[in-house]
Formats: sequence, C-alpha cells, structure tokens
Amino acid sequence: MEASSRIYVAGHRGLAGSAIERELKRQGFGQVMTRTRAEVDLLDGLAVRRFFEEARPEYVFVAAAKVGGIMANSTQPAAFLWENLQIQNNLIHSAWMTGVKKLLFLGSSCIYPKLAPQPLREEYLLTGPLEPTNEWYAVAKIAGIKLCQAFRRQHGCDYISAMPTNLYGPNDNYDLQGSHVLPALIRKFHEAKIRGEKQVVCWGSGRPLREFLHSDDLARALVFLMRHYSEEQFINVGSGVEITIRDLATEVGRVVGYQGETVWDPTKPDGTPRKLMDNSRLFALGWKPEIDLPSGIALAYEDFCRRFAA
Ligand code: GDP
Repeated sequence: MEASSRIYVAGHRGLAGSAIERELKRQGFGQVMTRTRAEVDLLDGLAVRRFFEEARPEYVFVAAAKVGGIMANSTQPAAFLWENLQIQNNLIHSAWMTGVKKLLFLGSSCIYPKLAPQPLREEYLLTGPLEPTNEWYAVAKIAGIKLCQAFRRQHGCDYISAMPTNLYGPNDNYDLQGSHVLPALIRKFHEAKIRGEKQVVCWGSGRPLREFLHSDDLARALVFLMRHYSEEQFINVGSGVEITIRDLATEVGRVVGYQGETVWDPTKPDGTPRKLMDNSRLFALGWKPEIDLPSGIALAYEDFCRRFAA
C-alpha cells in the first residue's frame, strides 16, 4: 500500500471504520475513499458494483457491518444474519470483479465456540457450538472469513481477515438497547451522575470476563496487517488484557465520577462466560497495543461528553 494508493474504507461512520480512516490519514495516505449509506447502500449489490467500477479502489477495508450488543443481537436475528451476509458478499464479490489488489475483512471474537478453551486461538474456529445470544452475527462473520479464503484459493486474491476483540472508542453506539457494554456503562453512569441518582442498574451477574481494545489500537493493527500480512489464516486482534464486567463497571464509575451504588439485574443475559483472544500470532509479527484500559475509558468518556453532553 503506497501513499498514493486508492483505499476504500467501507463503514467509515462506525467505530472501527472511522478509526481506520483517521489512522490512514494520520499515516499520510492521500486517497482514502468513503461513501455514506445514502451514496452507496451496501445492501444493494448493483450499487456496490457500480461504485467499485467507477472509483476503482485498490485496497479495501471491510469495516461495514450491522453490529450491536447482547440485546440487539438476540432480538434481531434476521437483520444480523441477512444484512451482514449481504454487505460482505457485495463488497467481496465487487472487489474480485474489479481487480482490487488487497482486501481486509473485519470479523469478531464471537466467531469462536462458546466453550472453546481460553485464550482463544485461531484454530478453534468451528470446533463447537456458538454462543446463542450472537450466533446470527457469528455465522455471518464466519461466512465472511470463508469467502475471503475461498477467493484466495480459487482465484489467488489477496484477501485477509482480522478478528477484533470487544472494541470501544470514538463514534461508538450509546443507544442503551443496542450498544455494547462499555458505551452503555459510560452513558448509564454519566446520566446517573447528572441526575443525582443513587443506583445504576447493570445487566447480568457482572461475572463474565471480557477483553477490550481501543479502536485506535485496532486501526493501527489493521493498517499494519494490510501492509505486512498476506496469509489465508485469519488473525486475532486483541489487547491480551481481560476484566470482569463488575470491575469494568467500577472503573467506568471512577472515570465518570459517579458516587452511587451499582446493582445487577439477573434477568438480563450474561452471554458467553469468557472471551479472551490469544494474540500471539499478531504480537509475533511485532505489533502491540498502546492504549491501556483506564486511559482508553477516559478518552471514550471525553468523546461521549463532546458528542452528547455539551
Ligand atoms: P457480548 O460481549 O457479545 O456479550 O456483548 P455486550 O458488550 O453487550 O455485553 C457484555 C457483558 O456485559 C454481558 O455479560 C452483559 O450482560 C454485560 N452488561 C452489563 N451491563 C450492560 C449494559 O448496560 N449493556 C450491555 N450491552 N451489556 C451489559
């Protein structure tokens, strides 16, 4: 990838895509292309194909997806399966039809079996049943990995896949029904502080363990992989640090400055008990994260305040 390469970031308004666009610009790539949904609807195969034919991207980051937290995933199975299959099929097929040089497909750590050994190594894919709360999304992402591998095998395409752990950062989704845990906690603690409420209600038991990665770290890893990685084997992208949801709530409460009590609602699902990536493949290539969780939460809270609490 050269400074003058034509690079298309699909999903540039989302958490991952916006971070990729920022990172590419920061590193001096001059021709970063983006399109809003109104300009190119990624669910529309013809529109995607027309865009690729006209804009002729050479490198493509597939960061567009229908994403959501535990509640959104389990209540909208059709949307999570169909929309994600559609988006990735349209992008990957159009990339092939128009001779894109390299494509990076972004998956998720939920592709792994619910009860796989931890930390999750890449080779555990398809060794057991998925976590039911997000299996629709996971099945679509597994199909995306396989599609990249299939195009590589059958047509020699340089398509790679990366599986990020739980992400957070600027442009996150703070809608309490649809979001992931970290943005949800930022919003809940912030609003409780402003309203002087004595309690914040969090979901589940607080016992599940999750690994978190700031989206700016993810973007650095993805640009690094686009430049230096060309294997059929997909690759995990995580921080290697895990925390219980209970400790996460304490940390978010501290950053936000909330003085009240945290209570747990056991009627809400815990999801998978633990989801820690084995990042040795990526770390062995010489990449490592730079933003630790407390600093990352502080940055995310600043972003939240800029966007919603001005
Ligand atoms: P997951 O990693 O796919 O399970 O997705 P989430 O980020 O939505 O949830 C992670 C964990 O945080 C689950 O155990 C949730 O029950 C828990 N959690 C606690 N409070 C909340 C909340 O307010 N919103 C969300 N989304 N999850 C919460």
